[in-house]
Amino acid sequence: MNAIVVGSGFGGLSAAALLAKEGYNVTVFEKNEGPGGRSSVYSEKGFNFDMGPSWYLMPDIYENFYAEFGKKPEELFDLKKLDPSYRIFFGDKRIVDIASDLEENFKLFDSFEEKGGEKLKEYLESAGKLYDSSVKDMLYKDFKSSLDLLSGKMLLQGMRLNIFESLEHFVNKRFESDEARKVVEYSIGFLGGSPQNTPSMYHIMSHIDLTMGVFYPEGGMRKVVDSIYELATSYGAEFKFNEPVTSIEIEKNKVTKVHTSQGSYEADLVLVNADYPHSEMELLDKKYQTYDEKYWDTRIMAPSAFVGYVGVDKVVESLDHHNLFLEDDWANKFDQLFDPEKASWPDSPSYYVNVPSRTDSTASPQGTDTLFMLVPLATGIENSAEKREELYEHIMDDLEKKTGENIRDHVVVKRIFALDDFKERYNAYKGTALGISHTLKQTAHWRPAHKSKLVKNLYYSGQYTHPGIGVPMTLISSQIVVSDINKKLKK
Ligand SMILES: Cc1cc2nc3c(=O)[nH]c(=O)nc-3n(C[C@H](O)[C@H](O)[C@H](O)COP(=O)(O)OP(=O)(O)OC[C@H]3O[C@@H](n4cnc5c(N)ncnc54)[C@H](O)[C@@H]3O)c2cc1C
Repeated sequence: MNAIVVGSGFGGLSAAALLAKEGYNVTVFEKNEGPGGRSSVYSEKGFNFDMGPSWYLMPDIYENFYAEFGKKPEELFDLKKLDPSYRIFFGDKRIVDIASDLEENFKLFDSFEEKGGEKLKEYLESAGKLYDSSVKDMLYKDFKSSLDLLSGKMLLQGMRLNIFESLEHFVNKRFESDEARKVVEYSIGFLGGSPQNTPSMYHIMSHIDLTMGVFYPEGGMRKVVDSIYELATSYGAEFKFNEPVTSIEIEKNKVTKVHTSQGSYEADLVLVNADYPHSEMELLDKKYQTYDEKYWDTRIMAPSAFVGYVGVDKVVESLDHHNLFLEDDWANKFDQLFDPEKASWPDSPSYYVNVPSRTDSTASPQGTDTLFMLVPLATGIENSAEKREELYEHIMDDLEKKTGENIRDHVVVKRIFALDDFKERYNAYKGTALGISHTLKQTAHWRPAHKSKLVKNLYYSGQYTHPGIGVPMTLISSQIVVSDINKKLKK
């Protein structure tokens, strides 16, 4: 059977590997020059940048995926646990390290507020219990209707928690200090949401980064991409790069062919990993779109981003592998990201700087640093060169002030990737970096479905579908959809 996969992001790569292992003749069409999608690589003058993901979290989910092939992550790449997990710069006030050892973090929380350590312990116990039940009952479940949702134990546990409560409200009841609140809230950025619009059940994110820890695959996230690409090709999947799909042909509610920039190919089934709104609205005839333009236009989109890939010919000593710069007035800043009325370029945003060269000698030449700077931006704001440059200068000023080092004069590589670049490179709807946000109404059954409701042999995987945003989630989405395809075929 011919299975065609559209797109080779983590969702497409993992689905291709699973389908090929099941014996399908798999062909993957990818618009760009290589595999990885949002996790592509940019290299210049010996500086190697992972263009997207840099946090390897939820190691259990990667393990579960590789186990489908009888493999362990450690057989495919060197995985180390970072310590400290990350460094936080709280405005101009204080710099702290979040340790991989929880006891250290309890002491740190005691320094934030009275009984801070005890409060963190309780918070993490709740997050840990919820994580265990959500992995079993929710993440790997294929939500087809709201009945599936009601049967989920996690939801019942969620009800006890009050699923309508925002993370912000949940956190504010438990912690008083600005620092403690920020540490347990920042990780919601991984889900493309804000503490105000994300349900409290996502406090599991703190179990993920504080209890489970932060890992790094030696050689960067590209090693994870390579490992899945190699698994897929070892089972016979064929990849056609620089060959975008231009339309999907359907007869009597079944896909028959896929048309690309270079030809037409017969398909028994098609699995789309390309951005869901692009594939529905641009690759399918209107009558076969499960979700129309109005649907997409009314979703809460995860933000776009400003990403700076900067190589410097020195080591910036005070930066660690992961560095968060969290500004004082950050609660108000979320409006600039999610409220269309207030959407605008940020004036003094919180931001993130990743320095893989701190732990990885292959990231940049000896004695130099790769700086990956990330600032979330609202989708749909003016895409101007001046604004990008202004933001770059602002981040540089702030970084120099907070590290006390001259960085600007040492820049030897500089590339900025933002807003329309996401549209052009990935066909990203409204230039989103992450797809649709994890609000309550865009969780589980309410995320776009893994299977078309109108076309029999058309499937989807990737960050738009359940369970959602982030590399581990996209691997699960493929496990869910390929298992569904197999069940149907066996019938
Ligand atoms: C800046 C940034 C930082 C991030 N940081 C982290 C992190 O630290 N940890 C983490 O776990 N996650 C992180 N994420 C999220 C994570 O990267 C994504 O959730 C995940 O990679 C999405 O994978 P995907 O397969 O759904 O989509 P994509 O990676 O976008 O893959 C879709 C593919 O489809 C291709 N395509 C589009 N249109 C067509 C067409 N017509 N024909 C053929 N191909 C097409 C695209 O080129 C792309 O390769 C980050 C994302 C970004 C952008």
